[in-house]
Amino acid sequence: MNSALQQMVRDCQSWTDKGKVADYIPELSKANPSQLGVSITQLDGTEFYAGNSRDLFTIQSISKVSNFLLALEDKGYEALKHQIGVLPTIRGFNSILELDIENEHKPLNPFINAGAMVTLTFIKGKNNDEKFSRVINFMSQMMGEELSINEAVYQSERETGNRNRALAYYMKSTGILTEDVESLLDLYFKICSVQVHCGHISRFAAVLANQGRDLNNEMSLIKPYHCRVAKAIMANCGMYDASGEFAVKVGLPAKSGVGGGIMAIASGKMGIGVMGPALDTRGNSMGGWQLLERISDHYQLSIY
Ligand code: GLU
Repeated sequence: MNSALQQMVRDCQSWTDKGKVADYIPELSKANPSQLGVSITQLDGTEFYAGNSRDLFTIQSISKVSNFLLALEDKGYEALKHQIGVLPTIRGFNSILELDIENEHKPLNPFINAGAMVTLTFIKGKNNDEKFSRVINFMSQMMGEELSINEAVYQSERETGNRNRALAYYMKSTGILTEDVESLLDLYFKICSVQVHCGHISRFAAVLANQGRDLNNEMSLIKPYHCRVAKAIMANCGMYDASGEFAVKVGLPAKSGVGGGIMAIASGKMGIGVMGPALDTRGNSMGGWQLLERISDHYQLSIY
């Protein structure tokens, strides 16, 4: 499989020239746009990889999946659904239009910024430091390695994240958020800046493909029902407002982040992690998307 993946990376390399690295978080603009990597983890833990598969990038919105899973494990779907919808993303990941104005201004779904912030309020912990420890430990457990944050990216987003600040204060004004906004934002920014590589992402995806069971010892890390809920929402909302097109072209539940990563899940088969910091206008990795199209075609993975 490694040589097939190497060939796919070569075939997709030119796509990295067509995108642009995210620069609205200044530190992210330092990323190398020509990077492109992929990792596949099978359910027995076997890994295959090619390209820049072990280069670190920040997890950004892919963390919204682990946050959501932890919140589900802590409070259950019935509790979350009153505060967060499962409607498709319509206008970018950080738009004020991500709030459902006809429905108490609830965030449309948990995989856009507003929804992720509300999700964090459901995670147990006596304060946000304790919540952060729980989140990073949960991620580390699923990704098979102890993770840490990229301090420069965290500080950069903390200094410049005014759109998220605006979204959070708006939600506080409507009563969707009741917490201290600055402390919640700090938690949100810190989680987005956790550093990962494609292997971490593919391992996490493989745990979801394995219905929440650890790949080594089959211990249950996430309830199967919560995996199902998260994957269903990923399939509908995981690729920002390009989720419909992604369903047609790739056909797998997936989540992308502006750090250039995308995780994709082939249930019962494998987890896939790709990275390529050059993004399209909607915030999805251009090379990463192309790689996923080829992988899905080659191994006939589309769920549709
Ligand atoms: N930290 C980023 C933000 O809030 C995450 C966005 C993303 O990856 O979609 O803007």
